[in-house]
Amino acid sequence: MSKKYLYKFILVGDAGVGKSCILLQYTNKKFEVSYDYTVGIEFGSQMIEINNTLIQIQIWDTAGQETFRSITRNYYREAAGAILVYDITRRTSFTNVQIWLEDILQHSPKQTEITLIGNKTDLEKNRVVSYEEGKKFAKKNNLHFMECSAKTSYNIDKIFVDFANIIYNKT
Ligand code: GDP
Repeated sequence: MSKKYLYKFILVGDAGVGKSCILLQYTNKKFEVSYDYTVGIEFGSQMIEINNTLIQIQIWDTAGQETFRSITRNYYREAAGAILVYDITRRTSFTNVQIWLEDILQHSPKQTEITLIGNKTDLEKNRVVSYEEGKKFAKKNNLHFMECSAKTSYNIDKIFVDFANIIYNKT
C-alpha cells in the first residue's frame, strides 16, 4: 500500500434523526435502542481501500450540539465532507435540512462535499418524506443523496464508501 489518506466527515442534523446510531452501526456494526448517547462516542473511525490507497475515514458526531449555529467553525473546518441527516418519519427534521445546509455552507471550506441522508427506512409504514422529495431537494442544492437505516444497516457502509470515492476521485 503506497499512500495513506485521512478523510474527516461530520454528521449534522436535528436531534433524534439517528446520527449516533449511524456512526455506531458503521464503526461497531451494532444498533442499540437503549444506548446512552449522551456519554456516547464523539467520533469513530474505519479504514477502507481505494485503488491501492489506504483511507482512514474519521467521522465526527455533533451529539449534544444540535442547537442551530452553536456548532463552531472549528468543527467544520477540516471536514472533507458533511453528512446531513434527516428522519423520513419526521417532517420537521426534513424542513430543517435547509437551515442545516445554510450552516454548513456558511462555516465550511468551499470544497466541502455534502451528502443528504434520509434515515430510518425500516419504518416505511411511518414514512412522511418520500424518496423523491429527498432526491429533488438534493438535486436542487447540488448534494449527493441516499436513504438508509441505522437499525438494519441498509446502505450504511455504502454512504461512507461512496462518499470516500467521490472525494478520492476529486483529489
Ligand atoms: P441523534 O440525536 O441524531 O444522534 O439520534 P440517535 O442516534 O440518538 O437516535 C435517535 C433515536 O432514533 C433512538 O431512539 C434510536 O434508537 C432511533 N433510531 C436511530 N436510527 C434508527 C433507524 O434507522 N431505525 C429506527 N427504527 N430507529 C432509529
